[in-house]
Amino acid sequence: GFKCGIVGLPNVGKSTLFNALTRTAAAQAANYPFCTIEPNTGEVGVPDPRLDKIATIGKSAQIVPTRITFVDIAGLVRGASKGEGLGNQFLANIREVDAVVHVLRCFQDDDVTHVEGRIDPVADAETVETELMLSDLDSLERRVVAARKKAAGGDRDAKALLPVMEAALACLQAGRPARTLDLSPEDREMLAGLTLLTAKPVLYVCNVDEPSAATGNEYSRAVEAMAKTQGAMAVTISAAIEAEIAQLSDAEEIEFLEGMGLHEPGLDRLIRAGYDLLGLVTYFTVGPKEARAWTITRGTKAPGAAGVIHSDFERGFIRAQTIAYDDYVALGGEAAAKEAGKARDEGKEYVVQDGDILLFRFNA
Ligand code: GDP
Repeated sequence: GFKCGIVGLPNVGKSTLFNALTRTAAAQAANYPFCTIEPNTGEVGVPDPRLDKIATIGKSAQIVPTRITFVDIAGLVRGASKGEGLGNQFLANIREVDAVVHVLRCFQDDDVTHVEGRIDPVADAETVETELMLSDLDSLERRVVAARKKAAGGDRDAKALLPVMEAALACLQAGRPARTLDLSPEDREMLAGLTLLTAKPVLYVCNVDEPSAATGNEYSRAVEAMAKTQGAMAVTISAAIEAEIAQLSDAEEIEFLEGMGLHEPGLDRLIRAGYDLLGLVTYFTVGPKEARAWTITRGTKAPGAAGVIHSDFERGFIRAQTIAYDDYVALGGEAAAKEAGKARDEGKEYVVQDGDILLFRFNA
């Protein structure tokens, strides 16, 4: 599955957020079950109102959401790239995730120590990013030397890879994270193969004080401005509020949110933003037994989408009956969609669209 790593300096609210995420998911009863894999790893159902709607129309007995994994990666301090604190472990943990959720302290509280002695989320982001860039520089400098030698000796792979490596190196040397490189899709794939920490997509989470949860504050606005210049995303959330919400019943939650001027839990926005960040889309399968959401990377073709369910589906793929979400809902289900000619038969080259309702035909 897809993994988001939660990072940030100490005392910014990472654990509060992670616990709220996992507890809320647990409290969301049967529909969005949560399970703990390791103490610091949690799988969360991706909230999707479309799935509930499809299940109602399809009279499905069960709802199975698609999932995303969050990992609480503690241990970053200044000097991590030189092995300070839990530095090496920290960097290894980041290497394993698909995207980075970077929590920034945007709240003031004299009872909670700030490791740098002041509230400045933009500077904090730079501190963390600098450690990641130093680590990338270190590993890349060594690899570029080796690749140059190989390329000079005629090695084709090294020759192909070298331009991307050189570009990434120049980018890092200029003090910019590798994800800001403007690359062709092929080069982007090569960059991903280098497993650089700063090549991963980043979502900034502005952890604001409770009164600012609906509006944001001067700190979160500064982070949003920074994110814009980096092509990154930012979400404003109050971890303290989310922790409170996690304790409430559904009815209490609605009342509490309205009282705060909020429409939905910040965690729902965070989970969806994480999903977008990873370039993921959802397709659905529906039957009397269950309505289920499945995750694929944007651009996946029908056989690959089938393979998410079972490798046999991909191997023996014949075609996929496809109904667009809007048609399914407007017409009131599969039978009516078929009658109206809105159930298409799609073949191997079909690129699955977000919200498609699919039924696969395959050779067993
Ligand atoms: P971590 O070290 O980044 O995991 O931070 P924690 O989640 O352990 O939080 C550190 C301290 O900050 C704890 O005492 C939290 O209760 C407190 N804290 C976290 N989020 C907020 C918040 O939104 N507002 C306030 N006032 N305190 C918070």
